[in-house]
Amino acid sequence: MKQACKICGNKTRIKYRQLYDDRHGYPGRFDLRECVSCGFMQTAPQLTTREIAKIYSKHYPRAKISPEQVLAAAKNIPSKETIEKKGLGGTCHLDTKPGERVLDIGSGAGYSLAEIKALGGVAYGVDPDKNAERIARKLGFKFHLGFLHNSHFPKKHFDLITASQVLEHTPDPVRLLIACKSYLKPGGRIRMSFPNTGALYRSLWGKAWLHWHVPYHLNHFNKTSVEIMAKKAGLKIRSIKTVTPNLWTVLQIRSWVSQVRMGERNTMWDTGRVDEKKIEAKKDWLKSLSLRFLPMLEDKLFFNRILDWFGRGESFVVEFRLC
Ligand SMILES: [Zn+2]
Repeated sequence: MKQACKICGNKTRIKYRQLYDDRHGYPGRFDLRECVSCGFMQTAPQLTTREIAKIYSKHYPRAKISPEQVLAAAKNIPSKETIEKKGLGGTCHLDTKPGERVLDIGSGAGYSLAEIKALGGVAYGVDPDKNAERIARKLGFKFHLGFLHNSHFPKKHFDLITASQVLEHTPDPVRLLIACKSYLKPGGRIRMSFPNTGALYRSLWGKAWLHWHVPYHLNHFNKTSVEIMAKKAGLKIRSIKTVTPNLWTVLQIRSWVSQVRMGERNTMWDTGRVDEKKIEAKKDWLKSLSLRFLPMLEDKLFFNRILDWFGRGESFVVEFRLC
């Protein structure tokens, strides 16, 4: 199936063929198509919004999270030093200032909403997952089940609109930005983070890069496509940088050593545990060894800070403002 580039409308060609969901076991194979003009990449075929809402409820492991767990986590908001050291700057809502009305798009299990509240903000969430609604309602947050463009929230209402690792999941990213614009107060800011295909690790891992994450990730941005998207939405980019969560580097290696077949769930993403027996059964001492030492890396990956210095990190953090 041919697709025109969602961002600039030019032709796309196949970059990688036949990737599959190696986390939650969604069946099917997907190609990645690259725009010949702006370099934006998109998953093909693209799932519809209805399919997406369904697979998030089924394949994303949120059903078991309790409201108590969410509240407990909000007591441990990372300090500025930890954010810096571990590369957590892509957690956009941590930029909340006391008294601000903050809308988090793709608020998921509600950890972000609880943290916005803990930081002194008034939290609003939107997410298509029914599990997200269940938790948000129990905790008393203002919440819209579905997508931003058909939400009941008042227009020109928010000081800060955040979307951390969301834009890559949305069928129409330009439309999402336009919707954000209409809910933003004059002088407000929109902060978004999403994977960067210009990352050095992407070049190194190629087809095995963690953030292709098909079919959940529909969009794969480079810097040029971000600039075109902002222009089309009528927003200006106030700042653009990259961050690389050390955890992502650890997960990349763990995911690679614990590869599963198509249609199979990888226990690592559900339980946080890699099926070591399987790896040991293959007598793969190198993989076993790497698993044992990986957790130690989370505080120590200084190399990631160097990548971010050069803008070659894993995730963009972009702040948009009204023109
Ligand atoms: Zn394009």
